[in-house]
Amino acid sequence: ETVVSEIVGTVVAVQANFYQVRLDQDIILENSSKTHYLLCTRRTRLKKIGQKVMVGDRVIIEEPDYQDGRGAIAQVFPRKTELSRPPVANAEQILLVFALENPPLDPWQLSRFLVKAESTSLSLCLCFNKLDLITDTQRQQWQERLEKWGYKPLFISIMTDQGLEALTDCLRGKITILAGPSGVGKSSLINTLIPEVEQRVGKVSGKLNKGRHTTRHVELFELPGGGLLADTPGFNQPDLDCDPQELALYFPEAKAQLNQGNCQFNDCLHRGEPNCVINNDWERYEHYLMFLEEAINRQETLQKMG
Ligand code: GDP
Repeated sequence: ETVVSEIVGTVVAVQANFYQVRLDQDIILENSSKTHYLLCTRRTRLKKIGQKVMVGDRVIIEEPDYQDGRGAIAQVFPRKTELSRPPVANAEQILLVFALENPPLDPWQLSRFLVKAESTSLSLCLCFNKLDLITDTQRQQWQERLEKWGYKPLFISIMTDQGLEALTDCLRGKITILAGPSGVGKSSLINTLIPEVEQRVGKVSGKLNKGRHTTRHVELFELPGGGLLADTPGFNQPDLDCDPQELALYFPEAKAQLNQGNCQFNDCLHRGEPNCVINNDWERYEHYLMFLEEAINRQETLQKMG
């Protein structure tokens, strides 16, 4: 009796009914070249039970044809996390990139992205780029300000390579979602981290690279040190579609206050109710109030629409 070990890999690109799978183990071909990829279909059995396959999914492959680079996905492992926008499975963290200058750092916009990131179950790595454009004093000021918000950002410059080692460490071996407004250096970062255009997973099957920033298409880049980076279509103003009741939890400096005790009212929205545990003595309290109004309005509109 022979033991056939399972062929396991990660889905790195999806197009129509084809899935590009990066196998955990190298395959040595007859001409002794190596490959990692199989272009796979999905077994009918999976279609019947409605099992979808997403980028980031861990899968078992059957009937691999290494010479042709083909296979069939027979099974999908349970997902650790699942995002719908962008549609990615098993992502562990969000890398939020902002520029310190050019465009100047807008605290409101930053707050909005932070709240959006906090409302997911993923962990967050906050990264400030274009360090070369500001002084040490300015950097110090941002660092202290962000610490009060509850964050320890990485400061980098893609232009001068500063801080890129720490960033690479933070990305190693994980599936990371790249986010941030346009113009902050996201494309530059991808080009720096992945110098070989051929290494871009999206290029493995040329057609997959179409439609960047125009559709909901997700591009997944393979990092040289292991790990995957999902680029998302650029947007400058993410919607805050969270429950008003939960909003305060997405501000670390407010969450810390909530951890100290309970408000008198269960449904307290922390805007001056009696015996509320959240004070107004924090910089982003005005962001909180503004976003709260937005979240309430949104909820009311949804309720009106039934
Ligand atoms: P994206 O829209 O977030 O993808 O941003 P890009 O990667 O297209 O970068 C926007 C602009 O910022 C480009 O002109 C880059 O050359 C520039 N840029 C990127 N990183 C740096 C940096 O570290 N320092 C400076 N001074 N400029 C940068």
